[in-house]
Amino acid sequence: MNEIRPRPIKDLAAETPRPNNLDAFWMPYTNNRGFKATPRLLAGAEGVHYFTNDGREILDGTAGLWCCNAGHVRPEIRDAIKRQADVMDFAPTFQMGHPIAFEAAARLIQLTPKGLDRIFWTNSGSEAADTALKIALAYQKARGQAQRVRLVGRERGYHGVGFGGMSVGGIGTNRKQFGTLLPHVDHLPHTHAPEHNAFARGQPEHGAHFADALENLVQLHGDTIAAVIVEPLAGSTGVLIPPKGYLERLRELTTKHGILLIFDEVITGFSRLGQYFGSDRLGVTPDILTMAKGLTNAAVPMGAVAATSAIYDTITNTAAPGIEFFHGYTYSGHPLACAAALAAMEIHRAEDLPGRARDLEPYFADAVHSLRDHPNVIDIRNLGLVAGIEMQPRAGKPTDRATKVFQRCFDTGLLTRTTGDTVALSPPLVFERGHVDRMVDLLGAAIRAEAA
Ligand code: PLP
Repeated sequence: MNEIRPRPIKDLAAETPRPNNLDAFWMPYTNNRGFKATPRLLAGAEGVHYFTNDGREILDGTAGLWCCNAGHVRPEIRDAIKRQADVMDFAPTFQMGHPIAFEAAARLIQLTPKGLDRIFWTNSGSEAADTALKIALAYQKARGQAQRVRLVGRERGYHGVGFGGMSVGGIGTNRKQFGTLLPHVDHLPHTHAPEHNAFARGQPEHGAHFADALENLVQLHGDTIAAVIVEPLAGSTGVLIPPKGYLERLRELTTKHGILLIFDEVITGFSRLGQYFGSDRLGVTPDILTMAKGLTNAAVPMGAVAATSAIYDTITNTAAPGIEFFHGYTYSGHPLACAAALAAMEIHRAEDLPGRARDLEPYFADAVHSLRDHPNVIDIRNLGLVAGIEMQPRAGKPTDRATKVFQRCFDTGLLTRTTGDTVALSPPLVFERGHVDRMVDLLGAAIRAEAA
């Protein structure tokens, strides 16, 4: 009897026809006109590679979009989703429940930082950010601090695209098209100080004092601040690493002033910085923590908010009988997402992905910093398996240089990500040293070619 072998994914990808119509899909965060003129289509993925439908192999230098931390098409995750789909596709979690949503939450709190042991399921990082802000407001009200309605974010922060996340976010281009934002929002200064910290490896020395700006905001707003939300490492703005002592100081000040501290760990969660969560790596525990991306290895959309029992108990026990928190999504705790999350978490444990990331970090750091003397490179920043390579913007054409480097990388077989004039790298945590070498060779060649 002939054995039936699965076809290689690369071949299946190469057989995927190019869509006839590129017009109907209004693409997110995309130069639609440019893309549709010269599309970049990924049709298959496996391990640390993508495959295009014209048969090319692309090394994934960004774990998709900072999310496929365990590599692509992991059989364990794929099979878990299939098994769950055979048993139950969907069940509501409003006034109802299903076992796997509880199982996944109970498993997740074994990984979250100590004390963060209540899980609210969402479907994305944006929803997690807005949920976290609503939990903070509800908590302050429940504990008799109803005047605390103000939310503080940080310049250059990114917390997704809901109105809450957009308002506390601090990237101008994400806000200015829309006019109306949440009221009662203020921002801390960002922590980027290249005049002191350029080419620092790991956490830079200078900048703990940026957290002291919270004292000024408290002076200004009194006891009306409910929460401060920051990314422990700001990813989407171009990889800003927290200065030594900065997050510690923020923790101190928020506690002192009765303000909740929220860490948005949508990027830094799930072993990216060499521990399960960035707060473990950076030694600071928030009151509320958001996550998404690596939670399911991106195989099914899912996000989550982890909060302390004290927050859960305060909101729950002070509520009138009945529903305690008027918030939730149809797909909160979706069975397929929970199946994917359980399988992904098991991979992180069984393969010690935090340890793998930690082991590779010095090699990765040496490799990316070897680009220091390349033309137009003005800064390189790294922590865990994240790096940002900042380019001198072209006069009068911001973002042009990095965008062209990104395009050249794609053409030569490497997926990178750019924001502004920074090229960001966040490879799957299952990268080997040889993959790091190839990634940095291709990126270096693209940077040199772009300067020629
Ligand atoms: N928060 C952070 C820190 C992020 O990096 C992102 C996405 O990159 C989000 C929130 C939004 O997540 P999503 O795109 O899943 O809504």
